[in-house]
Amino acid sequence: MRARIALCPGDGIGPEVTHEARRVLDEVAAGCGLALAYDEHPIGGCAIDATGQPLPPATLAACAAADAVLLGAVGGPQWDDPAAAVRPEQGLLALRQGLGLWANLRPVTPYPSLRDRSSLRPDRLAGVDLMVIRELTGGLYFGTPRGRTIEPEGRRAVDTLVYTEAEIRRVVTLAFKVAAARRGKVTSIDKANVLESSRLWRQVATEVAADFPRVRLEHLLVDAAAMRLITQPSYFDVIVTENMFGDILTDEAAVLSGSIGLLPSASLGDGPRGLYEPIHGSAPDIAGHGIANPVGAILSVAMLLRHSLGLEAAAQTVERAVEDALRAGCRTRDLGGTLTTAQMGAAIRERVVDAGGDTSSAALLRAYR
Ligand code: NAD
Repeated sequence: MRARIALCPGDGIGPEVTHEARRVLDEVAAGCGLALAYDEHPIGGCAIDATGQPLPPATLAACAAADAVLLGAVGGPQWDDPAAAVRPEQGLLALRQGLGLWANLRPVTPYPSLRDRSSLRPDRLAGVDLMVIRELTGGLYFGTPRGRTIEPEGRRAVDTLVYTEAEIRRVVTLAFKVAAARRGKVTSIDKANVLESSRLWRQVATEVAADFPRVRLEHLLVDAAAMRLITQPSYFDVIVTENMFGDILTDEAAVLSGSIGLLPSASLGDGPRGLYEPIHGSAPDIAGHGIANPVGAILSVAMLLRHSLGLEAAAQTVERAVEDALRAGCRTRDLGGTLTTAQMGAAIRERVVDAGGDTSSAALLRAYR
């Protein structure tokens, strides 16, 4: 099997963690006869510096031609001027939109070996295994008209929150399909007591539920959900929500695991092509020191293998390698350890080799079919 991977390392620690993720992907590919072709492209701040644009047309074209995109992170203080005409984050939003990626999947499964690193009491973490599915190309972040005006009473800023039935239906349907393969529960999060768009969201989610009689749907207001994520996180199986609520709740859910450096994400659209990135940002405070945790980027590789290449066994091999390394006490600084990014990457790669029996091409091809 062959696959073309577009690499967009981006800014700050993006290139450091993407490098380790690529090496893990190479290790898995070597073990299972997967032939990979990579090409690397700028996005975000480094792309603004090189071309004046956060998403150069050549980057978008290469990502559109690839089977999957592996991205690091974008942004940093040198591009933070609020008055600037272009910003690094615009590159990421434009890439998601340009590739038609409308759902963002963020699994949160705290590792038993890291329970002491979480901000929550260890007993609160028992049984936590949740998947947040965030709508990605609608809502406040994409509404028009938007902008600023100067009124007699002072400056005025406008953002608009728009959702269509079709946008809601496709992401909620995905959530039901994911829940059907998990514990069979979807929690749809909205603010239906205040927002009209949320009332439409709730109505469409209820309609979709009729097609999935074995999956239970419940609705929860976003403020109650924010509380429950901390007080009773094991309550959730699959969460589905609109763009901005999802942006905020996924960062909240990230603290359950012990470090934002641990969590991966997948952005998916209509076909198998997806964009895979750790959920953290460019971490300018530690960039260049070689101490960033590469686990979120490496677990993004597992999601890439699963969702874009259909290689479930290979995906699980990567996930097991991460779990084994953490259980063996391998820790970067954010987890209270001393390993560098490269050492953590190597510890995980070694375990991918150890698990090589599971990634035989026969097993992988069976999983792919
Ligand atoms: P951040 O995620 O970059 O960093 C938050 C904190 O977590 C920092 O202390 C950082 O050192 C730490 N951290 C993050 N990832 C880590 C890792 N892998 N290993 C160890 N520690 C890690 O968030 P921020 O500081 O709010 O944002 C920094 C920049 O990143 C900003 O320019 C922001 O716009 C951008 N950003 C980009 C993305 C993205 O590319 N998807 C997401 C969020 C923020």
